[in-house]
Amino acid sequence: IKILAVESSCDETAVAVVENGNKILSSVVATQIDVHKDFGGVIPEVASRIHVENISMVIEEALKKAELDMPDIDAVAFTQGPGLVGCLHIGVQAAKTLAWAFDKPLVPVHHIAGHIYANRFLTDLAFPLLALVVSGGHTELVYMKDEWSFQILGTTQDDAIGEAGDKVGRVLGLPYPGGVYVDKLAKEGKPIYTLSKPKTEQALDFSFSGLKSSVLQFIDRQKRQGLEFNAADLAASYQETALDALLLRARKALTQYQPKQMLLAGGVAANSRLREKIQEELAIEYPTIDFVIPPLSYCTDNAAMIGAAGYVAYKHGVRASYDCSADPGLELENVEEASV
Ligand code: ATP
Ligand code: MG
Ligand code: FE
Repeated sequence: IKILAVESSCDETAVAVVENGNKILSSVVATQIDVHKDFGGVIPEVASRIHVENISMVIEEALKKAELDMPDIDAVAFTQGPGLVGCLHIGVQAAKTLAWAFDKPLVPVHHIAGHIYANRFLTDLAFPLLALVVSGGHTELVYMKDEWSFQILGTTQDDAIGEAGDKVGRVLGLPYPGGVYVDKLAKEGKPIYTLSKPKTEQALDFSFSGLKSSVLQFIDRQKRQGLEFNAADLAASYQETALDALLLRARKALTQYQPKQMLLAGGVAANSRLREKIQEELAIEYPTIDFVIPPLSYCTDNAAMIGAAGYVAYKHGVRASYDCSADPGLELENVEEASV
């Protein structure tokens, strides 16, 4: 089964062709990072307009690289949500048009199911599994008892970890997206500053806004008192505190649910220190659990992951009609039955 997949939920216009959910025949990503850099963040209207400009070209390139034409494709998968509504709309429209014109089944995919299934490019999944989802808009522990079942065990009460990292990067004067540069800068520093540790009522929930504020207050205080601080040390301190809070919840879930596998998913899965800590800490503490970290290039938004999740959705009979719409608030736990 060859699936053409379309992703446009945020600031990447991406199209891929994936065979049987785990073989990438092509994966094209047109990123808008250079445009949004000037604003320090994504401007939704600007992002939608660039998706319109890029989408046809990206589709053509993905087919060309796969050395296929539309008649060779078995189904069209697309990100239905969540994401920026105007951005999603462009990908949904393109996918619907292709599916309708070439009479192909249309498969709606949840963006986070995509991030989770990016791990299929590395290995087969073993259930039950636990996915630690860390991205620009999500921080979640997802339990999957089988390949098309999603139970959210814990989520963030406020900011997502990616969002918090981007904000910390910005106050440190780093380029957008801040999280990427905090990761780089932290390598040159030591976690010597004490920042407030995230606290949550539910044991498996997350919170990052207090930690983010604690970084802002620290900088303010040092400036007011005319004191110097080392930006690399502050980046390292923020990162260690955030990642320790993340791993604390992951440990609780691993102990409680005893999964066969733990997957890392989402843009922040690209974080070098997080990848290191999973190998050096969790993998040693839980030797019977298989820890899987997605290939670096498939952590941040791409369409190959949508093709991987789309293949599983396709097998489970999930279909969208040719008049479906984007759903910016789509919930992961509802996609199992979804036919829209
Ligand atoms: P979501 O997937 O929740 O809808 P999104 O699609 O906007 O959000 P992703 O593309 O999955 O987000 O991830 C982007 C986020 O990943 C940004 O916040 C970015 O800073 C972060 N990120 C990317 N690389 C790294 C890194 N090496 N270290 C820390 N954060 C990183
Ligand atoms: Mg992005
Ligand atoms: Fe994403």
